[in-house]
Amino acid sequence: MTMIDPFGRSIDYLRVSVTDRCDFRCTYCMAEDMVFLPKKDLLSLEELERLCTVFIEKGVKKLRLTGGEPLVRKNVMHLVRQVSRHLETGALEELTFTTNGSQLARFASELADCGVKRINVSLDTLDPEKFRAITRWGDLGKVIAGIDAAQAAGIKVKINAVALKDFNDAEIPGIMRWAHGRGMDMTVIETMPMGDIEGDRTDQYLPLSLLRGKLERDFTLTDIPFKTGGPARYVTVAETGGRLGFITPMTHNFCESCNRVRITCTGTLYMCLGQDDAADLRGPLRASEGNELLSRAIDEAIGRKPKGHDFVIDRRTNRPSVSRHMSVTGG
Ligand code: SAM
Ligand code: SF4
Repeated sequence: MTMIDPFGRSIDYLRVSVTDRCDFRCTYCMAEDMVFLPKKDLLSLEELERLCTVFIEKGVKKLRLTGGEPLVRKNVMHLVRQVSRHLETGALEELTFTTNGSQLARFASELADCGVKRINVSLDTLDPEKFRAITRWGDLGKVIAGIDAAQAAGIKVKINAVALKDFNDAEIPGIMRWAHGRGMDMTVIETMPMGDIEGDRTDQYLPLSLLRGKLERDFTLTDIPFKTGGPARYVTVAETGGRLGFITPMTHNFCESCNRVRITCTGTLYMCLGQDDAADLRGPLRASEGNELLSRAIDEAIGRKPKGHDFVIDRRTNRPSVSRHMSVTGG
């Protein structure tokens, strides 16, 4: 079975935000005094599992758990264990995570045990003080220990860095050398205008076309067709032998090949990261024990997946393009 949207795109990739909470407060993602959802609004782990299962039955082959910070959700490993049975049957091809790495040292071997083969770890700087500044609360040492543990457990790690003007642009080549030196791919991401933060996003926004131009002064970048199911466009870097991906929602519209939808921890389905239209799945999920209503609500929502987003960052639009934070729908 497959889910096909109105533009003929086959939807086989689901991202699930299992919590909106986080043990960091990255400045581009959240305000320091971020207010989280009341616990009673969250789907239980059993409900999340049921949702995932229905999506897998409807053709989802790749599932990514994200957040907030997915590994701070209480008993999250229970959900991972339950979902991983679909890996065993072959119905699901891949179960992955996007994590800030803070709890990875604790969970890495259990994740590997559940069939998690690849994870993305977000890391914007290798300088402990800058790391503390950008995450407000984070400890770089713990994240590095988490990456060590994941690699030791045989999990492939990709480093995700948000490119931030005057913060880490000069450091990106160094982070890339470090990542490639450890056998990790790296992806750089443009900041997206999602949710109110304390600063001005035009001060943070760095078009990746500029970054690429700068990198090309010192490195030989060759475009390759490599795909991981996500929106990154990859190059190989001759000098390091590694791969570098660019996620450019602002400078390059990546919507035409979009195969993804996202669910929040309250069971809201977003058909596009950059649009406000959404479908409530918690109602149909709770309305009956069978999955008929839920399945119909999903079909109806996929039937109105939009063609693309309309993110803009400029000084005239002084408001975020979408009002929810990235931590609601996950990266
Ligand atoms: N807490 C986990 C983490 O940091 O990896 C998972 C959730 S986080 C919202 C997912 C990704 O979104 C991270 O790589 C983060 O850097 C990125 N992100 C958060 N806010 C963003 C924004 N406004 N623009 C671009 N990327 C953003
Ligand atoms: Fe937390 Fe990830 Fe947002 Fe940072 S980017 S505050 S780690 S959810």
